Amino acid sequence: MIKRTVFESEHEMFRDSFRKFLTDEAVPYHAQWEKDGQVSRELWKKAGQLGYLSPTVPEEYGGVGVDFRYNAVVDEEVARLGLSGVGFGLHSDIAVPYIMAYGTEEQKQRYLPGCVNGDIVTAIAMTEPGTGSDLQGVKTNAVLDESGEHYILNGSKTFITNGQMADLVIVVAKTNPDAGAKGTSLLLVEANSEGFEKGQNLEKIGMKAQDTSELFFQDVKVPKDNLLGADGMGFIYLMQELPQERLSVGLNAIASAESILEQTITYVKERKAFGRSISSFQNTQFKLAEMSATLTMARVFVDKCLDLHIAKQLDVVTAAKLKLLSTDIQCDIIDECLQLHGGYGYMLEYPVARAYADARVQKIYAGTNEIMKLIIGRSIV
Ligand SMILES: Cc1cc2nc3c(=O)[nH]c(=O)nc-3n(C[C@H](O)[C@H](O)[C@H](O)COP(=O)(O)OP(=O)(O)OC[C@H]3O[C@@H](n4cnc5c(N)ncnc54)[C@H](O)[C@@H]3O)c2cc1C
Repeated sequence: MIKRTVFESEHEMFRDSFRKFLTDEAVPYHAQWEKDGQVSRELWKKAGQLGYLSPTVPEEYGGVGVDFRYNAVVDEEVARLGLSGVGFGLHSDIAVPYIMAYGTEEQKQRYLPGCVNGDIVTAIAMTEPGTGSDLQGVKTNAVLDESGEHYILNGSKTFITNGQMADLVIVVAKTNPDAGAKGTSLLLVEANSEGFEKGQNLEKIGMKAQDTSELFFQDVKVPKDNLLGADGMGFIYLMQELPQERLSVGLNAIASAESILEQTITYVKERKAFGRSISSFQNTQFKLAEMSATLTMARVFVDKCLDLHIAKQLDVVTAAKLKLLSTDIQCDIIDECLQLHGGYGYMLEYPVARAYADARVQKIYAGTNEIMKLIIGRSIV
């Protein structure tokens, strides 16, 4: 086993307390949340009170101002326990960092304390019914009204994580529809704005406790002050923040695969066929050996990417490589583990079955794995 060196002892202490928090406050309720289609508000509030949300937010805005390794711990522990409904990663690693990076002082004062204490759940709305991979094709538009004080926002979004629970949504919209990518901006839209409606909580094959929604905007008046960063810079901001999102996916992928492999090793030692333990078959040992070797390599790579990110050196192409490889590995490993469980592996009662369904989307969101290959390919030729 290769010892992990990316974390310090304080991260491991944080890990222990967060794991205990999840074991007490999320594990017992997750099956019910899967039926409800979302986790409870209370979970967010409690997590906020204990400092588990957006730990990188600076102290002057209510956070603890620590580095991204604390987010990584949260991502890993949520994944290890198979708590796929807990959308802290999307909030802390993806949405809130936009406000930290591009928000005005006033926006930071207004929103960040609530993002930290659990009063404000965030989402980011890029995808539309007609546009996913090709973000430049976004049709949602925001035009300044005659007074010049408000944008009038129109359009619809789909597949938005935390979409039902969100109090604040970062909406990707065209503020200059004729300017292509250069006409794209980010708007901070509060959920109680008139004309903003949350549509269906979408039914998915996995991540059942995660609320994934349609969002509709009809003549929503968004104060000009809620423009995030500069007008027309939205596409560039998205490109700058995507490596962190892909790192977050990679951390989740490898932690989930490691956890399912561990559980599978226990299972094959206990399960018997032909009067022997399943683990005594050479095929089982070879499969376990392959998976263990693959995950050893993947762990080194993801930890290196985390290290690079802390040093502000994780580039777009390396993050794309991580997202591509880690999610392919996650899906392959969970599939093999399911096979080793036989029919029980197909039963939702078993974590491996839920992990199988939960994992599939990792190859799709945060940029599909085909888009990752485009990014990597373009950097080569
Ligand atoms: C559970 C879930 C949660 C999500 N959460 C969010 C969220 O919080 N916010 C948000 O904005 N979005 C979210 N998404 C949307 C997600 O990011 C998109 O689904 C994804 O980007 C793909 O877009 P699409 O679905 O429109 O597929 P399409 O873009 O239509 O792609 C269809 C297929 O074509 C392939 N393809 C497309 N272009 C190319 C190309 N140039 N070359 C080769 N192949 C190509 C794709 O790889 C894919 O296989 C979520 C999706 C899901 C399922």
